[in-house]
This record gives sequence, C-alpha cells and structure tokens, in this order.
Amino acid sequence: MKEYLSKKAQTLEPYLPGEQPKDKKHIKLNTNENPYPPSPRVLEAIRSYVNGDLRLYPDPDAAMLKEAIAKHEGLSPEQVFCANGSDEVLAFCFQAFFSKGRPVLFPDITYSFYPVFAALYGLDYKEIALGEKFEINISDYLIENTGIIFPNPNAPTGLCLPIDDIKRLIEYNLHKAAVIIDETYIGFGGLSVVELLGEYDNLIVTRTFSKTHSLAGLRVGYALGNKCLIEGLTRIKNSFNSYPVDRLACVGATVAIEDDAYYMDVRKKIIVTRQNTVNALRSLGFTMSESRANFILVFHPYIKAKKFCEYLYKNGVLVRYFDKPRIENGIRISIGTDKDMEIVVKLLKQYGP
Ligand SMILES: *Cc1c(COP(=O)(O)O)cnc(C)c1O
Repeated sequence: MKEYLSKKAQTLEPYLPGEQPKDKKHIKLNTNENPYPPSPRVLEAIRSYVNGDLRLYPDPDAAMLKEAIAKHEGLSPEQVFCANGSDEVLAFCFQAFFSKGRPVLFPDITYSFYPVFAALYGLDYKEIALGEKFEINISDYLIENTGIIFPNPNAPTGLCLPIDDIKRLIEYNLHKAAVIIDETYIGFGGLSVVELLGEYDNLIVTRTFSKTHSLAGLRVGYALGNKCLIEGLTRIKNSFNSYPVDRLACVGATVAIEDDAYYMDVRKKIIVTRQNTVNALRSLGFTMSESRANFILVFHPYIKAKKFCEYLYKNGVLVRYFDKPRIENGIRISIGTDKDMEIVVKLLKQYGP
C-alpha cells in the first residue's frame, strides 16, 4: 500500500506527546497540564455558548479574543494572532518566517516539536548545544540563520534567560531574521520579552492557554508581534484553515484572559508547590537546575531515570523521561497539587530496586 503514500507520509518522524491514559486513576505529571481547574467564570461562559449558534461557523478572526489579549498586553489587536493551540501557532510561524537555504536555529535540548516542524516543511536546521549547566549561550546563536526559536523558560530544563540576553539576539538579527520566543511557561516566574515588541519588529512571542490557564483541552494559543509579521501568519493560516479557533474556545479563552485574579492565585500556588518539591527532592539526594516553569527536571546520582519512571508508573504516577544524550537520566515531573507532590516524594523516598 506504500505506493499511495507521499514520501513525506512514509518517512516523517512525528512528535510523540506524553501518554493520555483513558482512565482517571493516575496522577498525571507527564504533560505539564495545570493541576487546577479553569476559572469558574470560564466554564460558565463556555456553557452559555453551548446553544443553537453552534450551527454557525465561528469568527474567522477571533476578534473578541484578540481584543482581550491585546488589552491585557497593552498592544493593538493587529499585533495578535490566534490559532488552535500554540503548536498550531508554531507550525504557522515555521512557514511564515523561515525559508530554505539558511538554517533555523534552536537548542539541542528543547521542545521536541521544533525539529518535527522543520522536517515537515523541509527546512534546514541547526541544533545548538546547551552549555555545561544546560544554559542557552546567546553567543552561540550569533551566526547565519533564517530564524531562531526557543522556549523561555526552556523545556525540559526550566531555565529562564534574562531579557537583555534575548535583546542581544534580536538586535543581531534585526533586518535579517525573526526571533521567536515561545513563552509557554512564562507565567510561572520568568520575565516576558513582550515589552521589547515596541522596540523591535523582528520579535514574535508565542503563548498558550494550555499550561498557565488550565485549558489544554480547549486548544488555544497565540502569537504577539509586529503588525506586518502577524499579517504574514494570518495569510498562512487562511491558506490552511479559516476557523482554527472554534466558538467555545474563543469565548473560554477570552474570559480566561480577563480573569487575572483567579489565574494569579493558581500560578502562585504552583510556584510554592514547586519550591517545596525541590526542597524535598534535594533532601533525598536529587539534583536539578532552577526551574521557572511548572515542571522540574531532576537527576539522581546513581539510579537511572527509566527505573524511577517505571516504578512511579506502577504506583500510579505518570512522569516523563527523554531518551536523549545528557538528559537520558532526567525525570521531568510536572508540578501538581501539594497532595500529588507529597505522593511523588513519598514514593521516591520508598524506592528500592
Ligand atoms: C506545551 C507546549 C507547547 C504547546 O502548547 P499547546 O498550546 O497546548 O499546543 C508549545 N511549546 C512548548 C515549549 C510547550 O511545552
């Protein structure tokens, strides 16, 4: 049957998301979802939109959502682009900003969807090695490129770069290439580069409602940038899908952006839980770098990550490890509720091969 498949469909190596078990028996700390529910106002707004209007297509521009995001960020709606999860936003970015010939640059240890997108669109890319302590060294990126992308904080390391470092990178590429900063985890303690949007027109910031706003199931992500770059993204989107943000997603995300008080509280709780978990795991002999995300990447001096993961799985806890040099012994644990993390710490304490 292979003759029916394009070369791409035969050979692409797709992204592998963390497991989504069918039952609800596990403590799920493997995909960085938020352990707290969405704001009650969000759920109420979505319910109020479950009516006969669902026979109609949604607004192709998601204007209501764009306006809410623009207002929240102090930007104009023309500087906002929305799509079906930030994975889709990123897929559109790869097409809108990167061209063949020169390489796209991203770290060798980072969100594993980037190389998949590059391969999907036949782009050249170069993976830049992280430093000794998993840090991104901006100097390593000051080379010829068609564009640069990395998450800040990076995943799965959790390390966050200061704004000035990113500024150097943007300035180096000014009038040459776009710099995309994936701010999926910025709400958990890092400083956003959104303030640089007024100064530089080659910066794109992407965000998602999946992690900070407890809406992974709704699928909404967005990009912020110069009007002209956003127009480019919109042209790509409209050549693929006119309606990536459905009616329920549009209203749910709009109300989520507006309910700052609720989400500030959720983020604060997660940051406190993260610190308590770090302290507890350090006292058990684990090492880790300083995470500013809603996950931690922890290493044990002599027990293999795979062993820990299998043991936790058997005991009903899902976490993730990556079969990749340098981090093959890291366990990535999403930060759950205090109770979730107490269970994890207790299990790791009791571990005996
Ligand atoms: C989770 C994640 C995304 C994807 O977010 P969605 O909006 O759920 O598609 C993008 N980038 C990074 C770094 C992530 O960890």
